[in-house]
Amino acid sequence: MSAAETHVFKSEARELLDLMIHSLYSHKEIFLRELISNASDALDKLRYETLTDDALKSALATGKEGAIRLEVEKDARTLTLHDNGIGMTRAEVIANLGTIARSGTREFTARLKEAKESRPEGADQATESLIGQFGVGFYSAFMAADRVVVVTQRAGEGSATRWESTGDGTFTVADAEREGHGTTVTLHLRAADPENGLSDFTQDYEIRRVVKKYSDFVTWPITLGENTLNSQKAIWTRTQSEVTAEEYAEFYKHVAHDWEAPYETLTLKAEGTFEYQALLFIPSRPPFDLYYREQKFGLQLYVNRVLIMERCEELLPDYLRFVKGVVDSPDLSLNVSREILQNDRRVAQIKKRVVKKVLDSLDKIKTDDRERYRKFWDAFGKVLKEGLASDHDNAEKLKDLLLFQSSADATALTSLKEYVERISAESGQDTIYFATGESRAVLEKSPHLEAFRAKGYEVLYLTDPVDELLTDQLAEYDGKKLQSVGKGEVELGTETEKLAAEEARKEKQKANASLLERIQSVLDADVKEVRVSSRLTTSAACLVGDEDDMSPRLERLLKATQGAADMPRQKRILEVNADHAILQKMKSRFEASAEDATLADYAHLLYGQALLAEGSPLPDPAGFAGMVADLMVRAG
Ligand code: ADP
Repeated sequence: MSAAETHVFKSEARELLDLMIHSLYSHKEIFLRELISNASDALDKLRYETLTDDALKSALATGKEGAIRLEVEKDARTLTLHDNGIGMTRAEVIANLGTIARSGTREFTARLKEAKESRPEGADQATESLIGQFGVGFYSAFMAADRVVVVTQRAGEGSATRWESTGDGTFTVADAEREGHGTTVTLHLRAADPENGLSDFTQDYEIRRVVKKYSDFVTWPITLGENTLNSQKAIWTRTQSEVTAEEYAEFYKHVAHDWEAPYETLTLKAEGTFEYQALLFIPSRPPFDLYYREQKFGLQLYVNRVLIMERCEELLPDYLRFVKGVVDSPDLSLNVSREILQNDRRVAQIKKRVVKKVLDSLDKIKTDDRERYRKFWDAFGKVLKEGLASDHDNAEKLKDLLLFQSSADATALTSLKEYVERISAESGQDTIYFATGESRAVLEKSPHLEAFRAKGYEVLYLTDPVDELLTDQLAEYDGKKLQSVGKGEVELGTETEKLAAEEARKEKQKANASLLERIQSVLDADVKEVRVSSRLTTSAACLVGDEDDMSPRLERLLKATQGAADMPRQKRILEVNADHAILQKMKSRFEASAEDATLADYAHLLYGQALLAEGSPLPDPAGFAGMVADLMVRAG
């Protein structure tokens, strides 16, 4: 037997406990929901383990049904929750109840600070929803109790562990006795304080009210004395019209471990040869771990109301990993294993329906209420974009769900469909143009856009780093090609206008051929071609790529990621504005003396300007500054 040990909570956990106790004024009663939720999860886990582990199954054959038993001692002012679920080992107790949302703790405190600084008046609300996102459910016990004792025994193990804390910085862990596996949480209740949102939990009616309100659907019986308090009715089996929005919201909070109501609730039902039902939720905001590669997502999978998998990834594509909810099918086997699931045609069939349901619903929201859709887009648009690369079957639907910043409107986002609708019939425009870059402000001033602005063509602004990868997938929409303003040759206008412009460009190209060659020889290490531009109206030069070239930003992104650092540098094309005063000056210098050394400086400066204008870094800033200074002195 090992002795009792005192542990110190990880510092962020201490901070959080303090917040829990002192700054959460509303809804203190939700502590009961959190503890019941943990007990219910523990019972689910045990059932799942016995389904797949025969040895454990026979070891636990006690004949006792799973249940969550509540017990009150009025004189001692204690409320106790017993569950005969999976329980915890000593090590698990220390890991699970000594740190908060392990991976996310630091991020949690950072965000909390941020939220408090940005809107001090809404700090409590911000704290509450953050706590929800980071899953610190167990600690909510300290909102109602000033001392919490946990006695737990892991199923399949012979000894129990006792954990105790007053929430003031330390907790103790010691060996203990328990009758069989499961967990008992005893709350030494604080004095009731209704004014600050804490009712008297030694009263049966309070317990009954709170269980009914938040945990009615829990599939395990929750008992108090002789009474079972919850209906245990699986919410997804009830007729939709009979379930209130609040009931759905509470269920969502249970499955998603969220404290906020969902953004959207969706139901799905299939009858016939293969039956299943689904209840799906789109959260109001992204969880903090949405981009953690190691985090597992997925829907809960039930077979006839028995939970067989907590996070079934086979039911959701990666790009919809933010969707929460349950799928229940009586036709799947209870003993289904992950390997079988992966190859099950029926699971693939459900997944397909789920995807369709989610995408169609989003499309409907987008059509009916753009403002509301914008909220979804701001929260999950980035994840949804991933779908274009992976879900080719739904590419068209996904394209319709995309929103972009655009030169057409300074604030509102636009869809591709709206872009196409704005193309005037006589313009002859058969391409959707976009620009990628750091920010709208940089893109708006980019020389690449000059001709588009002059002609009144709309350009989409793609500023999200993932957009650099997205553009490949976006090859076409509604029969119109999507093209970067920074790639290929640009010809705008009607067929006749295009021909005339190309004719004029060729003329200029010819007239400047030797000068262009001279510039090319100076910049050979950096550019693969120097040519007269049809993009520029006011700037002297810009850099563009061939149709298949990477954008400079994508090149930088790839180089910044490991493994691509030694990727050969991509040479670009320097386009010059032959009508610009700089070019004309260069031309007269060149004609006076083809060997004029100043021409080389000019060429380097043109190249540097073109880099700066598109927001790219200069390879040699000091050299550039020196050349500018030199030129200024000479000009004076
Ligand atoms: P969350 O439930 O969001 O993970 P909690 O702080 O509520 O966060 O619980 C932390 C962890 O402690 C749980 O994930 C679980 O592993 C463990 N735990 C809590 N309550 C129980 C219980 N009644 N039985 C078994 N394990 C539990």
